[in-house]
Amino acid sequence: MKPDTPQSTAPADAEARKAVAPVICYPVQTLPQPDRAQLAQARKALTKTDEVIVPPRDAACFEVPAGHFFRITSIEGPQVGDLNLWNANDLNECFYSGKTRALHGTHLSTGDRMWSGFPTMRPLATITYDSLDWYGFDRFGGGVHDVIGTRCDPYTNALLKGGQYHHCCHSNLTRALSAHRDLPLKQAEALVHDVLNVFMCTGFTQDTHQYFMKASPVRPGDYLEFFAEVDLLGGLSACPGGDCSTEHSSDLAACYPLLVEVFAPQSGALDGWTPPTPNPYDQSHGQGR
Ligand SMILES: [Zn+2]
Repeated sequence: MKPDTPQSTAPADAEARKAVAPVICYPVQTLPQPDRAQLAQARKALTKTDEVIVPPRDAACFEVPAGHFFRITSIEGPQVGDLNLWNANDLNECFYSGKTRALHGTHLSTGDRMWSGFPTMRPLATITYDSLDWYGFDRFGGGVHDVIGTRCDPYTNALLKGGQYHHCCHSNLTRALSAHRDLPLKQAEALVHDVLNVFMCTGFTQDTHQYFMKASPVRPGDYLEFFAEVDLLGGLSACPGGDCSTEHSSDLAACYPLLVEVFAPQSGALDGWTPPTPNPYDQSHGQGR
C-alpha cells in the first residue's frame, strides 16, 4: 500500500505527470473474437447431458466436451464459487487469471473468454450468458465474477489467523482434482490455479485500493453459462465464505451447494466452428537471431 506520508518529495511537475491520461494496455479490437451470434443461436436449443452438485465448503470436478456448454447455477441460497479450468487432455494447460484480467478487465461477463497460460494461450471457454450482468459496477466499485482474487487458501489463513483450516477453496479443489483424476494430493495441488470467482462481488477500495468483498447479489436461479472451446476439466469449489459478506476460511458463514450442468447443442448448430488452435508464437524467444 502507498504510505500516508511519502518519504520522497514530489517533483515540481508532479501534478502534470499525474494528469497524463491513461491508455488501455491491451486494446482487444484485434483479439480473435467468438462468433457471438452463432453461440447465442446454439444456446437456444440445448440438451442436458450431465450434472454435478458441489456440496457447501467442498469442491467437485466435471468434464465438458469441446463444443458443449456448461452452466453454474446458484441453488438454495447465495453462494460464491471458485472455478478452475484445465484442458482435459493436458492438465498443464489451465486458466490464466492474470492475462484474462489484463485483456478483459477485473470482472467478466458475456462475450469474455477464459484464456489459458503460455505457451498455448488460447480461449478455454467463452461466457455465453450472465444472469447478473445487470449489476454492472456499484457505487463502491464492486462487480461480480472477478479475476482479481486468487482463491482462499490455508497458507494465507495460517499467516493471518493461525491454525489449520482445510476447507479453503484451494484445498477443496486439490482434494476434488486428486479424487477425480486419481492423482497424488501434492500433484493435484500443483495443478490448482488462480480462479474465476463466480458470483463473488469484489473490487478495490477507493482510498487504499485494497481488495474488498461484499455480500454477493446472487440469488437461487442465477447462473453463469460458458461455451467449452476445448475439452475441459472443470473444478468448482463452493467457497466457505458463502456469499462472502463477512469472512472466508471459517465455518461461520452460511454456505449452500452449487449446481453445474453440462449441455450439448443440436447437431449442426456449430457448423463452421473449430476449437482454437494453440498460440501461433514460435517460442524461439529470439535465441540465435
Ligand atoms: Zn474460497
